[in-house]
Amino acid sequence: MDGNPKREWSLNDFEIGKPLGKGKFGRVYVAREVKSKFVVALKVIFKEQLEKYRIHHQLRREMEIQFSLQHQNVLRLYGWFHDSERVYLILEYAHNGELYKELSKKGHFNEKQAATCQGFGGLCNRSATALYILSLTKALAYCHEKHVIHRDIKPENLLLDHEGRLKIADFGWSVQSRSKRHTMCGTLDYLAPEMVENKAHDYAVDNWTLGILCYEFLYGAPPFEAESQVDTFKRIMKVDLSFPSTPNVSLEAKNLISRLLVKDSSRRLSLQRIMEHPWITKNADPKGVCN
Ligand code: ATP
Ligand code: MG
Repeated sequence: MDGNPKREWSLNDFEIGKPLGKGKFGRVYVAREVKSKFVVALKVIFKEQLEKYRIHHQLRREMEIQFSLQHQNVLRLYGWFHDSERVYLILEYAHNGELYKELSKKGHFNEKQAATCQGFGGLCNRSATALYILSLTKALAYCHEKHVIHRDIKPENLLLDHEGRLKIADFGWSVQSRSKRHTMCGTLDYLAPEMVENKAHDYAVDNWTLGILCYEFLYGAPPFEAESQVDTFKRIMKVDLSFPSTPNVSLEAKNLISRLLVKDSSRRLSLQRIMEHPWITKNADPKGVCN
């Protein structure tokens, strides 16, 4: 797929397999490119939906961003094509699906749970959770270098490939869908204070979200969860952070979380410093190759 990015694709180039999921604007199927037998995920979006929500230009811009990003922890967009009714995105296939599903199945991740790492014949002494955070940090460092702020990182947008490697998906490709989601479906939980207040924000919003995710991975729920959106809003603004006594979480993990969930965005731990943090260096080798 990589060899010929300019190539014009059409539906005839693919054999369509089982459905993988349903999004707001369309469906996702596993598919196989006929000639190379390369397996991909094909996201099908109805043009009618794009027109209805007036997100045509937004989608195009965001597709171009994702197309330009090439990192092992960012879900690849190989290309796209369209017919009279639909737009098709040719995406990297994440065989193990949503990280969110794994998290709900387990309740929370154990810090010591070893990563399955095919690079070393399935054996790895690194912590799966620390590796997820390290992978996210590396992916975000790459994105920030390219002047891309994701702003919509949450477990539903993190997928796992066949080796359990984390992939950031959904390149925030619709501002409309994002704001709608926040006002209508109540996922304020991952937003930094400057975002819930609608203030100007920068790259540091993603660093905040890393703190939220690290907490959610280890405790099973985001830190500022509340009955109502108003209460979540208040808790975020106060940075009303507490660490329950169970499950047992190491002091180092708590330290990392506390240094990311800082209201003043300029004082949050930088991505570089996350990679140097003892919780990461002890539990996930930042110089390792298999994440
Ligand atoms: P949207 O992205 O349109 O805002 P969404 O996140 O609900 O909405 P999609 O991203 O379209 O929906 O995907 C729907 C589901 O399909 C995902 O939640 C995921 O389970 C599955 N899926 C999407 N892309 C892939 C992929 N590349 N590999 C494997 N599964 C995928
Ligand atoms: Mg999605």
